[in-house]
Amino acid sequence: MSGDNVNWIERSDKVFIGTYSRFPAVLVKGQGCRLEDADGKEYLDFLAGIAVCSLGHCHPEVTRAICEQAGRLLHVSNLFHTRPQTELAELLVQNSFAERVFFGNSGAEANEAAIKLARIYSGENRFEIISLSGSFHGRTLATVAATGQPKFHKGFEPLPAGFQHAEFGDIRGLEKLIGPQTCAILCEPLQGESGVRPLGREYLQQIRQFCDAHDLLLIFDEVQTGIGRTGSLFAYEQMGVVPDILTSAKALANGLPIGAMLTTEKIAAAFTVGSHASTFGGNPVSAAAAVATLKVMLADGFLDAVKSKGNYLAEKLAELAAGYPKLARGQRGLGLLQGLVLTDEGKEKGQEIVQELFGRGILINFAGNEVLRFIPPLVVSREEIDILIRELDQLFSELT
Ligand SMILES: *Cc1c(COP(=O)(O)O)cnc(C)c1O
Repeated sequence: MSGDNVNWIERSDKVFIGTYSRFPAVLVKGQGCRLEDADGKEYLDFLAGIAVCSLGHCHPEVTRAICEQAGRLLHVSNLFHTRPQTELAELLVQNSFAERVFFGNSGAEANEAAIKLARIYSGENRFEIISLSGSFHGRTLATVAATGQPKFHKGFEPLPAGFQHAEFGDIRGLEKLIGPQTCAILCEPLQGESGVRPLGREYLQQIRQFCDAHDLLLIFDEVQTGIGRTGSLFAYEQMGVVPDILTSAKALANGLPIGAMLTTEKIAAAFTVGSHASTFGGNPVSAAAAVATLKVMLADGFLDAVKSKGNYLAEKLAELAAGYPKLARGQRGLGLLQGLVLTDEGKEKGQEIVQELFGRGILINFAGNEVLRFIPPLVVSREEIDILIRELDQLFSELT
């Protein structure tokens, strides 16, 4: 590494609070699945800004929508209606179970809105929300409390009360936690951050049954799994389970900040004027970018292509795992949210593998201390998948 990267990183180190462990690269531009750093080095992107830039970097339709809207109207607050926001809400309602939408700016905010709605809808003395171990729901205090990973809680206590965690996969344990104070079960259909762990159709269907039997709301956090990532607009469509509330963010505007909470008309009615609000939520420019993003994704063939490329990547990863049993145990995931599950020996090398690939110009990350995660832009080509697999193969042969 030399030149501009080093200079900018030195400047960063002097001014930022150290909350991030960053790759030593200053990224300056992107196109499709390619990124370029300040020294002119190119990267093949299998991270997509953590499942955000799903149409690839600087997709022309999204860029045009942003520029047009930025030249017309940037912000007016939610004291007024704007056309992009309404158009976006209509698209979400037309293409999901939902009848009503609330916009925030991020995944955590969408989940905060869901938590508040579940509580106010359920009435007095019903406030407890059960989520799963290994889950990730955001970094605000309530969403940290909902997150089922102690490492995110440590040092921030006391956390907001009213959150319980059931052991991942233990359906009886979950049932035991349901009590008179419970109002909702919150889960990701497929856990992203803790290592691409699918909950499975049957498990999700049992959770739905508990919700029905005990009059609880089922909240799906589809911040990572939604907006085409798994091969359908939302992952729930493939699970045979419909939630009562769904949260979305990450890829919704292909890179501009936005979050959304979707629900039914009946549940939405518990929120009235003044119940909840956001200054920037559903900002016209983010909303215009999201409308453009959804229109591309909902066009004929796009989601089918995500499914088939996801299957292709899954197949290649499974083959790779079979070829290196010392390092990898197998593949798991859905659509283009894929993970290569490492063995105990492989896990020790997880970070090293990520750094080595970075050196070779390929961006991936290590999730849940167990899984190499692959979340490329959904426009990734089979040739680009082949490049990834070839580089992984080469690296694994050097490591064994
Ligand atoms: C990323 C993520 C969040 C948090 O989203 P932010 O926009 O960072 O607040 C919440 N839930 C899931 C499942 C996520 O992957």
